[in-house]
Amino acid sequence: MDFVAPRSWADALAARAEHPGCTPIAGGTDVMVELNFDRHRPDVLLDLTKVPELREWSRADDGGVRLGAGVTYHRVMTELGNLAPGLAMASRTVGSPQIRARGTVGGNVGSASPAGDCHPVLLAVGATVEVESAARGSRRIPVADFFTGVKKSALEPDELIAAVLLPPTNGPQQFAKIGTRNAMVIAVTSFGLALHPDRRAVGAAIGSAAPTPRRAAAAEDFAAGALDWEARAALPDDVATEFGRLVAEAASPIDDVRGTADYRRHALGVLGRRALSWAWNEHRRAA
Ligand SMILES: Cc1cc2nc3c(=O)[nH]c(=O)nc-3n(C[C@H](O)[C@H](O)[C@H](O)COP(=O)(O)OP(=O)(O)OC[C@H]3O[C@@H](n4cnc5c(N)ncnc54)[C@H](O)[C@@H]3O)c2cc1C
Repeated sequence: MDFVAPRSWADALAARAEHPGCTPIAGGTDVMVELNFDRHRPDVLLDLTKVPELREWSRADDGGVRLGAGVTYHRVMTELGNLAPGLAMASRTVGSPQIRARGTVGGNVGSASPAGDCHPVLLAVGATVEVESAARGSRRIPVADFFTGVKKSALEPDELIAAVLLPPTNGPQQFAKIGTRNAMVIAVTSFGLALHPDRRAVGAAIGSAAPTPRRAAAAEDFAAGALDWEARAALPDDVATEFGRLVAEAASPIDDVRGTADYRRHALGVLGRRALSWAWNEHRRAA
């Protein structure tokens, strides 16, 4: 196996074009598991850890955040708690301190696992994935269009993920996850929520409950219409319950070693209800 370690973004794109069958590696917390279990043995590993452009995040012109694909969970937690609160919450639940020190948001998106913890939040906030190839330049893919199947994505073989673009945060965000224990677990199911008071909209998305992470569109529309944005009145129980029901309805889960389909649906109803209550109360307190 060859190991290619470019030191700039331009060189990384050139190497990707030269070795279309290569496997990019960032933190390696997914890639090394595949290699160690001999599930996958690429001819070329393309090490992205020495590409400085991928390790940076910056404020975007619209007030959002451009998060380089190589930014780790640890940095999201410690540096972006205010600018990306939902993603910081999700990052705190990933693996262990060691995994959070190595693992990256770009790697989570690159793996395109239905259980990736970043994904429900990225869907709820309406993030965009910026990808690039040496031949065709850069393009932006709404995260809702990025995941195309179990561990499949819209990334072309000659492309790399450059960054994840987060719109400006103007309301509370939440992430909630059920695991078989509190740490070092892949989600049995998970849920991301973002309130957008400026346009009276709600983003809601589920993880580990369908072949891809997906938005709960009916729940989003229901909450946007049912919340009392004007008076910020307390959240009625029946609104929270119906929201949870619609979140659960968005799932098409399977039975597997981590949980049954029925349990996942039930858990999503609870997570949806709780997350909406937490986020709405935060919105009311901010008034
Ligand atoms: C013990 C353990 C616990 C874990 N716990 C969790 C958890 O709680 N929640 C969770 O969501 N995940 C968990 N994971 C999985 C993993 O840590 C995450 O998916 C992490 O985000 C992967 O990031 P990475 O930088 O290590 O990616 P890598 O392993 O380096 O890469 C992952 C995939 O993305 C591709 N890739 C990476 N960067 C790019 C790029 N710039 N462009 C194109 N493709 C790219 C790689 O080719 C590969 O297919 C865990 C893993 C382990 C080993």
